Amino acid sequence: MFLKRLEIVGFKSFAERIAVDFVPGVTAVVGPNGSGKSNITDAIRWVLGEQSAKSLRGAKMEDVIFAGSASRKALNFAEVTLVLDNSDQLLQTEYEEVSVTRRVYRSGDSDYLLNRQNCRLKDITELFMDSGLGKEAFSIISQGKVDEILNSKAEDRRAIFEETAGVLKYKQRKKKAEFK
Ligand code: ATP
Ligand code: MG
Repeated sequence: MFLKRLEIVGFKSFAERIAVDFVPGVTAVVGPNGSGKSNITDAIRWVLGEQSAKSLRGAKMEDVIFAGSASRKALNFAEVTLVLDNSDQLLQTEYEEVSVTRRVYRSGDSDYLLNRQNCRLKDITELFMDSGLGKEAFSIISQGKVDEILNSKAEDRRAIFEETAGVLKYKQRKKKAEFK
């Protein structure tokens, strides 16, 4: 599985619709301070279901919507689509290419789509859980995360191994079943 393409409109500093093609050989994003490099990783986190505004460096979820600049007025919604190559079938779906879309409006309404069809956040979370790319996964290591892992309690550190070993999905389902 690999990231093929990221399409962004209205997310943080990206007012214009942009598309980033991660063609083979792309290993880094470079640019001046404040040019939007971290906003690209925020967009990937967000489309995969991140619910914490703080970990997206905002105070509330609305802060991900383009807030306007001197030359451009604010937008009413943000949308991110991530396209993945799934020809190795790491994601358990028959599709060779998977696209995930998330949209949020200032009103607070939001949409999630899988292959351009409306779905629930849960469908996205479950599809990516244990794939190494989910919201709880460690494919994105943010600043400070390494220290946090090293300083965490043994049981918290265990969760990292459980995600890696692929048992987190079953644990969460068990917990849900017990509450019913
Ligand atoms: P550095 O090299 O300092 O890490 P960077 O390239 O990672 O910089 P980002 O943090 O991705 O930069 O982008 C920061 C820019 O995004 C700031 O100019 C900020 O004003 C802008 N920004 C963040 N949220 C919004 C928003 N909702 N609307 C408009 N601009 C935004
Ligand atoms: Mg940055």
